[in-house]
Amino acid sequence: MKDVKNQELPILVFATHNANKALEVQHMLGDAYRIKSLSDIGCHEEIAETASTLKGNALIKARHVYDNYGMDCFADDTGLEVDALEGAPGVRTARYAGEEANAQLNMKKLLEALSGVNLEARSARFRTVICMVRGGEVQYVEGVCEGHIALEPIGVKGFGYDPVFCPEGERITFAEISAVAKNEISHRGKAIRSMVRELLAKS
Ligand code: IMP
Repeated sequence: MKDVKNQELPILVFATHNANKALEVQHMLGDAYRIKSLSDIGCHEEIAETASTLKGNALIKARHVYDNYGMDCFADDTGLEVDALEGAPGVRTARYAGEEANAQLNMKKLLEALSGVNLEARSARFRTVICMVRGGEVQYVEGVCEGHIALEPIGVKGFGYDPVFCPEGERITFAEISAVAKNEISHRGKAIRSMVRELLAKS
């Protein structure tokens, strides 16, 4: 039998193809909204992230869906900011070692750029910006996780720069903690919870 009530919920698109990410937000929002991924709405074209800021790239993705599919949408964009590198890789975090770069090459480049920099001077943070476009209105929330860059990669969990990022107050990297524990303190976890608070307050 079809869930009629569920079909009447306001739809909010999460500009990601990752069904698990979308499901996680759906669980947090309960029955206040129905979350759809880009795949769910048939959005398979590449959305070029050409802005020079995280905010700009999140806006490009959310606006693309709103303008072309007529649906309210939110999009996230994350960067790693290293103080000793004047905020780099920042908006270029995913492509730090080049357009075809992978996590190993990105981490290698980062550790090389920090070679000779001692632990005290390796402060860094992950920042996630979320842009929501609802009814044409644009709103941003963000989440930050402070920490430092390790001297070498440690741990096998997670993805991206996890093996070289130690969250503040911890002697271990993101790649050594469980996904649940990471979500409690991570930039993305904080940003998503902040967005959920906003949405539930206004629903
Ligand atoms: P995105 O905006 O979520 O695609 O993130 C951009 C890039 O930042 C990714 O390609 C990863 O390299 C890196 N990144 C984002 N979040 C994390 C994280 O939680 N751990 C490690 N690397 C991350």
